[in-house]
Amino acid sequence: MNVVLLGPPGVGKGTQGVFITSEPGWVRIVTGDLLRDSVTSGSKLGLEAEAYMTSGQLVPDALIVALVRDHLVHLELQGSLVFDGFPRTAGQASELTEMLNLLGKRVDSVVVLQAEEQDLVERISGRRSCPTCKSVYNIHTSPPEKSGFCDVEGSALIHRTDDNPETVLSRLQVYRSETEPVVHYYQELGSKVCLIDGSKSVDEVRTNIAQVLGLVTA
Ligand code: AMP
Repeated sequence: MNVVLLGPPGVGKGTQGVFITSEPGWVRIVTGDLLRDSVTSGSKLGLEAEAYMTSGQLVPDALIVALVRDHLVHLELQGSLVFDGFPRTAGQASELTEMLNLLGKRVDSVVVLQAEEQDLVERISGRRSCPTCKSVYNIHTSPPEKSGFCDVEGSALIHRTDDNPETVLSRLQVYRSETEPVVHYYQELGSKVCLIDGSKSVDEVRTNIAQVLGLVTA
């Protein structure tokens, strides 16, 4: 089964994506992480992408599609895929359909997490992440055991530069104008589209996603 996780910034895609892919056989493709790694490594793509990311704009489709295509080529594609943060435009969605077609695959389910924008701005202000293992914490609702450090890696947690209030507002606006049409793309394609209330607790959202995808929860 291949799943696209959609939703505005801060709604919990990363956290829920980790849950879905915690069972063997699942692979998570997170374009935000791939881009941040490219920026850190100073690659040509990273240099091109950085200004868009810092200002909360989308990286151009051609760049991101090439990144995902290259990543898919290097993956062991026996199991199930979860796309987190991709596709973010109708153009990317149609490119993904073509890429998966060539591999004899398709998007089976689209999970759309939803929440009020005010809640998202608050959540993002408390978000901290591990640069090494990408674990995500919230200093208010799900803090690490030792303040400022990752429970898994022990690395110092970072507050993403694009997680400041101004950039978050433009990322939300970009979500509305560019990414919400992706939901209609999949509805018209006949994919199973599941709208999930992302304002509930992490565990409730996890259970609801597991239900709609038919996954067994621990
Ligand atoms: P995220 O970690 O998913 O919030 O992504 C951080 C930033 O990376 C976004 O604000 C965009 O600038 C860029 N980005 C991530 N995924 C995509 C995508 N599929 N298309 C274009 N830009 C992306």
